[in-house]
Amino acid sequence: MHVENLIDIKNLHKYFGENEVLKGLDIQIKKGEVVVMIGPSGSGKSTFLRTMNLLETPTKGEVYFEGTNIADKSVDVFKHREKMGMVFQQFNLFPNMTVLDNLTLAPTNTGKLSKDEAVKIATELLTKVGLADKATAYPQSLSGGQQQRVAIARALAMNPDVMLFDEPTSALDPEMVGEVLNVMQDLAKDGMTMVIVTHEMGFAKEVADRVIFMADGKIVETGTPKAVFDTPKEKRTQEFLAQIL
Ligand code: ADP
Ligand code: MG
Repeated sequence: MHVENLIDIKNLHKYFGENEVLKGLDIQIKKGEVVVMIGPSGSGKSTFLRTMNLLETPTKGEVYFEGTNIADKSVDVFKHREKMGMVFQQFNLFPNMTVLDNLTLAPTNTGKLSKDEAVKIATELLTKVGLADKATAYPQSLSGGQQQRVAIARALAMNPDVMLFDEPTSALDPEMVGEVLNVMQDLAKDGMTMVIVTHEMGFAKEVADRVIFMADGKIVETGTPKAVFDTPKEKRTQEFLAQIL
């Protein structure tokens, strides 16, 4: 089956109680595309990522992932979610496990890989993110930047088809932001499909194929980084950019 869009989200709504947080989003993401999502705090960016991989149940709408509507209640969400790696602002590593065990846990628990295969792949991934020497370290002995690179490697260990990042550098000291963005840039160069919520506009300009500006649960404007940052059409986008740039 030929699936042009890796992800095709149709009329996505999410309520928390009476509060409508996502107000009918339509977003298509092609294989290999890097999409950066920006917008004010509280506009629904995290909820969007979490609803997209079914960590939150959509109230209404469809989330086609590789041709299957994973919002459909009859679908095995876990099987599809394995194919979506997620990286959070707070690294969420397992503190009582070594770096290597953090990486091998999911692939072995799900039966995807044998222990030997998982260790081999984890070791390759740690090399890729520049942490080959930290396999036996525990998370709390690492810097924030190193922990976040481990978190990225851990997500990659499941061999995902898309990586979702929710403000991956917001909790880091400024001097550690670059090392994490560099890893993400390498991933983009390798052709990984990525959806990234970030306030790093320089990164967005350089790496994104497309920028989505979201406010109040709706997509206000979308386009190339150049179009959205240099010549934003909507007043709401102009105001937001004026505040942060
Ligand atoms: P952003 O990531 O853009 O800052 P969020 O998606 O975190 O925005 O939040 C959007 C809105 O949804 C906020 O009003 C927030 O309070 C609300 N919200 C998010 N998660 C929950 C939840 N689990 N329960 C209730 N309200 C939530
Ligand atoms: Mg958020």
